[in-house]
Amino acid sequence: MKKHNFSAGPCILPQSVLKQASNAVLNFNDLNLSLLEISHRSKDFVEVMETARSLALEHLGLQNKGYHALFLQGGASMQFLMTAYNLLENKAAYLNTGTWSDKAIKEAKMLGEVVEVASSKSDGFNFIPKNYTIPKDIDYFHCTSNNTIYGTQMDGFPTTDVPLICDMSSDIFSRQLDFSKFSLIYAGAQKNMGPAGATLVVVKEDVLGKVTRNIPSMLNYRVMINKDSMFNTPPVFAVYVSMLTLKWLKELGGISEIEKVNKQKAALLYTEIDRNPLFKGYVAYKEDRSIMNATFNIVNEQLKETFDSQVKAAGISGINGHRSVGGYRASMYNALTLESVQVLVDVMQEVERIG
Ligand code: PMP
Repeated sequence: MKKHNFSAGPCILPQSVLKQASNAVLNFNDLNLSLLEISHRSKDFVEVMETARSLALEHLGLQNKGYHALFLQGGASMQFLMTAYNLLENKAAYLNTGTWSDKAIKEAKMLGEVVEVASSKSDGFNFIPKNYTIPKDIDYFHCTSNNTIYGTQMDGFPTTDVPLICDMSSDIFSRQLDFSKFSLIYAGAQKNMGPAGATLVVVKEDVLGKVTRNIPSMLNYRVMINKDSMFNTPPVFAVYVSMLTLKWLKELGGISEIEKVNKQKAALLYTEIDRNPLFKGYVAYKEDRSIMNATFNIVNEQLKETFDSQVKAAGISGINGHRSVGGYRASMYNALTLESVQVLVDVMQEVERIG
């Protein structure tokens, strides 16, 4: 039986998508060829790329609004550098909410001045800083919408006149936002979109072309846009599976429908974390809790072994916390069902009963 997969990423994908992807590896579009052995310039694959790009914009409500969707390589980590390469001329501001923001800051510092407007680092990144001031004389403001490792998530985003850049790797397509507030959004595919290997970048036309440095082709958004995301051989499998997942989401009713389920899942688990005296949430304030990644600890370490063995027996996989935080992390991405969360909650209650 398929496990209840709470992995933080790569993570659960819809079973129907995995089946279609498996079939396409053997025989794609009845071509009697594998998806993996045809040219990326073939009509069949170009259609995949175009569908994936347009579905991404459609889900975000950004079609015909001056945005381009690209599927690039190098992971979200490459975007830490690429955003700065293309947009940072003098100074940029960053909100530091976790390891990934920290890494983005490190890369940007190679290309210009970086102002850290606020940071929760000294508190183990267990909350989202608020009430910070964004300077006006900057090229952009960068933030991370969901902090995968710590289980915090930004609820609101600042209103500012400077371009907003957001790393949405671990919550893209999970909740409704006014995506038109952002000038650039990026996300590694391997959470809510598909397999590792592709990174979605959604960039607004009007923020490009403002830096004076020469940008190498592989790091240049303009080059990627001009070549329809096919400047070089794209990660064909990752793009194909992303396209299937975006279609799956559309058939479900889109972000607004999946958000309802995501909220139900998160409410179910957090209610149990708060009720059950054996567990304690990691995040300091409830309003900062992520609906994607719930982080918690077991209060009585002596019951850890019992909990771990019950988790295993229930067919639950992937709930160990990130090595830098410890404890537990249950990731509840779009493809995870409410039933799987119920199985975890049942185990928590069972350990309370026998403990
Ligand atoms: N940003 C966030 C929020 C992430 O969760 C991750 C990876 N888990 C990254 C960036 C880095 O992504 P990648 O491994 O694709 O470079």
